[in-house]
Amino acid sequence: MTNIPRSGLSRRSILHGAALASGAIALGGGLGATSASAQTTDTDGVRAAQPELYWRGAWNARPPSSPIQVLANAPSYIVVHHTATANSTNYSLDHALALSKSIQNFHMDSNGWADAGQQLTISRGGYVMEGRDRTPESIAAGHHVVGAHVANYNSTAIGIENEGLYMTVGPTQALRDSLVVTLAWLCRAYGLNPHSAIRGHRDFNATACPGDVLYSMLPELRNATASVLTAQGVKISALREPTDDGPTYPTVPDDEPDHEFYHGPGRGPDDFTR
Ligand SMILES: [Zn+2]
Repeated sequence: MTNIPRSGLSRRSILHGAALASGAIALGGGLGATSASAQTTDTDGVRAAQPELYWRGAWNARPPSSPIQVLANAPSYIVVHHTATANSTNYSLDHALALSKSIQNFHMDSNGWADAGQQLTISRGGYVMEGRDRTPESIAAGHHVVGAHVANYNSTAIGIENEGLYMTVGPTQALRDSLVVTLAWLCRAYGLNPHSAIRGHRDFNATACPGDVLYSMLPELRNATASVLTAQGVKISALREPTDDGPTYPTVPDDEPDHEFYHGPGRGPDDFTR
């Protein structure tokens, strides 16, 4: 694996400004799709290749406390989490941006991590936000930003934090729909088969995350993601399958720490960054 040094900051500066000016930016996928305009559906209702994405500049992110590690290979898994925060009925953009900010503060100040642990965040209003620094441009390049969200698998898994707590209820339709668009974007960018790549946190670590209800939705989310990709002309059978040993399916603990932002082990001895 090769670590990619950061090259210059002109692109970041430009994108930061653009995010502030337009609110959201559509990103190019790894299969050559690039677009200057943000959209989630076209007039026929076919999903676009990428979600509207609110970059770190939109939520006034702090810079990482140490350099972010980027690997020159695609991840093998997309891990679905819940944030273990309240199931808010504030579906506004302002609330979504504040959520990203509060998660980053917790991860840096309480967990001692270099930055937000997850690569992407989705609010209950359906807003999709950049988490850890360098994520969007790395996805576009087919590279993997090493996060801190799934212990011992951070080198091979990209994480999506979904706002809420989903043990007894499911997410909002807006969150669910944005999650499918995001999953399809990642599968396409990285060439991943949704049926094998999309996992829940509890598949890898002893945790209830992403909650019984959201976890039970994963088969439907995989199928929906595959349908989006098929509609985009992507052949599912041609997509890549994981080559490692994969999930270990540990037992869900009944004495898991219960506090806001705790959604299971985010780092382990096999992770080389924080
Ligand atoms: Zn989790």
